[in-house]
Amino acid sequence: MKKHFVLAFAVFFGLMMVAGAASAETKFVTIGTGGITGVYYPTGGAIAKMVNNKRSEYGIRATVESTGGSVFNVNAVMSGDLEFGVVQSDRQYQAIHGMAEWEGNKQEDLRAVFSIHPESVTLAAAVDAEIKSIMELKGKRVNIGNPGSGQRQNSIDALEAAGIDFEKDLVAEQVKAAEAPGLLQDGRIDAFFYTVGHPSGAFKEATAGRRKVRFVEVAGPGIDAMIKAKPYYAKSYVPLEYYPGAVNEDNVKTFGVMATFVTSAKVPDNVVYAITKEVFDNFEDFKKLHPAYAVLTKEGMLEGLSAPIHPGAMKYYKEVGLIK
Ligand code: GLU
Repeated sequence: MKKHFVLAFAVFFGLMMVAGAASAETKFVTIGTGGITGVYYPTGGAIAKMVNNKRSEYGIRATVESTGGSVFNVNAVMSGDLEFGVVQSDRQYQAIHGMAEWEGNKQEDLRAVFSIHPESVTLAAAVDAEIKSIMELKGKRVNIGNPGSGQRQNSIDALEAAGIDFEKDLVAEQVKAAEAPGLLQDGRIDAFFYTVGHPSGAFKEATAGRRKVRFVEVAGPGIDAMIKAKPYYAKSYVPLEYYPGAVNEDNVKTFGVMATFVTSAKVPDNVVYAITKEVFDNFEDFKKLHPAYAVLTKEGMLEGLSAPIHPGAMKYYKEVGLIK
């Protein structure tokens, strides 16, 4: 009897210690994304899924947070509030070089992990607002994006390149992209910009309502000159196949950037290594997690990075020969 009791006690203690050790070793990491109708949010989910599949091996538990977008994510990763963030490539460039929101304040601890899907600066307008070119935004009510988003500066750059001062020549709303489709459908704005991968829930919502919506080209000589002048912009388009409700007939010309995955120099190598390895080792499974990933290649995922690559990611790229 006594023997049994001692044994039971020993087993109980043993289990407690195992459980204690496991929880002590579990490393919780959070990925900052964007609005839930964007592509960053499911992207954070896709990356988290890859590494959580191997939770028992790595002891990493990744979760996803919906945020205001790229600028918020850079700042939260730098302050240690988040371990990872999805960030536009132009914002990564500006943060590491001390430009735009980081003017004179280089984010030296910012580290690149990989690039993900392409994003297009997408302009959608109500047909009844009669906006067929970016020039016709003059005098209209337009959402340019919230402070903290990556897209806000893209909207401002596009407007400036078209000779429009966003503070004087139109009524600029600065709400989160997730709210814009509803405002457009309710007649409270005439148009909105959103820098996002396609397909996105936001444009599905915007083009599926009663108020008819058209995508407007963000193109022309002024825009061409701007793309040439800024190293992080490239020509792009909005693929119409995903938005049967829009009144356009062809893909719509614009410019764009890449979504990238970033972290801080302070995040341990083994954590960054594990995430990188799981995404790349299971690349075909990863690609199936969102239609915006259809164009991804492993080599392409190492382009568009301006911050130094985190040593944990670099270890993996060297191991598999993606970087020599
Ligand atoms: N590119 C957007 C931003 O940082 C977010 C897009 C998304 O959530 O998919 O402003």
